[in-house]
This record gives sequence, C-alpha cells and structure tokens, in this order.
Amino acid sequence: MKLGIVGLPNVGKSTLFNSLTKAGAESANYPFCTIDPNVGVVPVPDFRLGLLANMYNSRKITPAVIEFVDIAGLVKGASKGEGLGNQFLANIREVDAIVHVVRCFDDSNVVHVDGSVDPIRDIETINLELVFADLEVLERRISKTARSAMNDKSLASELKTLKKLKEVLEEGKEAKTLVPEDEDEEAFIASLNLLTDKPVIYAANVAEDDLADDGASCPYVQKVREFAAAEGSQVFVICAQIEQEIAELDDDEKKMFLEDLGLKESGLEKLIAASYDLLGLISYLTAGEQETRAWTIRKGTKAPQAAGKIHSDFERGFIRAEVVNYQDLLDAGTYAAAREKGLIGLEGKDYVVKDGDVILFRFNV
Ligand code: GDP
Repeated sequence: MKLGIVGLPNVGKSTLFNSLTKAGAESANYPFCTIDPNVGVVPVPDFRLGLLANMYNSRKITPAVIEFVDIAGLVKGASKGEGLGNQFLANIREVDAIVHVVRCFDDSNVVHVDGSVDPIRDIETINLELVFADLEVLERRISKTARSAMNDKSLASELKTLKKLKEVLEEGKEAKTLVPEDEDEEAFIASLNLLTDKPVIYAANVAEDDLADDGASCPYVQKVREFAAAEGSQVFVICAQIEQEIAELDDDEKKMFLEDLGLKESGLEKLIAASYDLLGLISYLTAGEQETRAWTIRKGTKAPQAAGKIHSDFERGFIRAEVVNYQDLLDAGTYAAAREKGLIGLEGKDYVVKDGDVILFRFNV
C-alpha cells in the first residue's frame, strides 16, 4: 500500500515525511530495502505481533508496512508543467490514497506561499490542480477512444463514461463524485487511475497547543473538518514539529512524552491507523519460531488470495487453511492446546480472512 503526501509548499510535508521515515528506519526489519529518498517504508504498529512472538520464541518480528511517498512540488500551475509538475503527477498516479497536509498553524517565521493561513483556500488550490491534471488525461483519452470507437462499437460505453467524467471535472468537481451506473462502469473508472478518484485523508498540521483537544478549539481545524465532512473525507490532527521530536525518542521516552502532552498515541500512529481504515485493509498473522509476521490484505479477501500474499505458490496450490483467532491462541497458551480445545478451524477456499486470524496454510507444490 502506498500513500502520497501532498500539500502546498511550507505546510509541513517534509517535516511529517522525515518523522515518518525516521520512525520507520529505527523499527524492526521490513521486507523491502530499496528505499528511494522520496519513499518512506513505515511499519504498521501491531501489539499482537509482540505477544505472539513471545509465545513462539520467534527469532524475528516482521510488521506490515505502509509506503509514504513525499510528493513535493505541487504549486499553482503544476498541471501546466510549472515547477515539478509532471514528475509530481507521474508519482502520484501510483498511490492508493492521498494524505493532504493542510497548514493550520500560525507562525510568522514560516512564510505562506499565498501570504496568509487559510486552509480551505489551500485545499481548493491543490484540488483544482488535481482536477486540471485529470482533465488533461481525460481529453487525451477521449480523442483516442473516439477514433477507435468508429471501428469498434464496444467502445461506445467507455466513451460515454469518459465524457461524463469530463463534465464533472469541468464543473470543478472531483471524479469520485460521479456515481457509477454499474460495476462495469465502476471498474472502468478505477482503471483510469484518476487523481481525484483517490481517497483523501486531510492532515491538519496544528500548533502544539492545539494537539491536546485534537484541534477542537482551533478555527482552522474546524473549517477543514466541515470541508472534509461535505466530501466524505477523513481529517486527523497532527503537529508535524512534535512528530519530528517524537521520532527521535526511544519507546519509553516516547510514552512519557505523549503522556505529558495528554495523548495516547503519536500522530503517525493515528495516521497509519486511519489509512488502514480508509483503504479497507486488515492484517492476518503468521507465527512460528523463525518469524512472527503481519500481512496486509483488503477486507473480504478469501483464504487462497491471502495465501498468495506470502507466495504465489501458496495461492496456486492452496488446499486449506488452519485458522485461529490470535486471542484464542494466546489464551490457550500453545498451538497444540488450541487444537485440543477445538479452537483451530479448517477452512477452505471460500473462507473470508478476518483481522487477527493466525493462519497456517496447507498447499501442494
Ligand atoms: P513543506 O514545504 O510542506 O515540506 O514544509 P516543511 O516541512 O519544510 O515546513 C516548512 C516550515 O514550517 C519549516 O520551517 C518547519 O519547521 C515549519 N513547520 C512545520 N510544521 C510545523 C508546525 O507544526 N508548527 C510550526 N510552528 N512550524 C512548523
């Protein structure tokens, strides 16, 4: 899963990104090591892993990860190729969702590109750039499809959808506001990979003082919340500067620091949880002496496809899955005890995997 961080210059994107990558760099092993400077691989906090690893005496814990991509260079006119526009657009097309950082702090030392702090104006500036970028893609696609449609009648419905999307965008609205007529249309729209079709989380970057009540008394945050509610997006409140400080601390220090601020978890943890939720993701677990590990899947994924996350052979040769809820397993104390108590289910290819399932796959090679 990949999240792209966007926002106007000077709103706190790099500060947030640096604290994310710092937090990631100091945590356990993760499976991918090729880290681009613009990509941070961040582990998904999961208390269940430590508990299971303890029970199994695992040599290694491997958390699920989320990738964050720092997409700098979005300014007014980006879609017209000013600044880093085109590179930006290429990067952002690949992401599953967008984290839109919005400046909600006053600080006369930090210059605002448009002269004043105004979160809604900022959001609209960025969103309009995304709309323009999508319009360009659509116009190109429409002329191509219109040409092909002369010889291929089956393209008529695609052309119709493309034109509907163009109308929506020309009104300044996002592609995701178009309600698809049926599953085919929905799939076709998804295949276009439009920027304004991607889910968005707004990250309201507040001053330290506004953290404790989660931005409730900050007028900037209230505005962002109203705006996001109207379009069905989520908002979460962070202070990028504090996150950067937290990222420097070890676990014990971090806990104390958060308690002092009256917080239960860091903004980054909130962000990761919100992204998981937004994208409809869950984790299932595998546990053993060698490794205890979390695997990310979409809600509704069936056992063979979940197995395929580990290895494509597991999916191809899937026979069945032995499944036990992590809490049941911990309560039983050992896998053998869980089996004796009848807590381990033998599941077939139609089993829908649940969050927190500990799974052992049986497969043919
Ligand atoms: P970017 O251009 O969006 O990547 O912004 P940066 O992360 O580089 O931040 C721009 C400036 O704002 C830097 O000087 C940061 O130290 C400062 N900054 C970032 N987050 C905060 C914050 O939460 N509060 C305050 N007061 N300053 C911040």
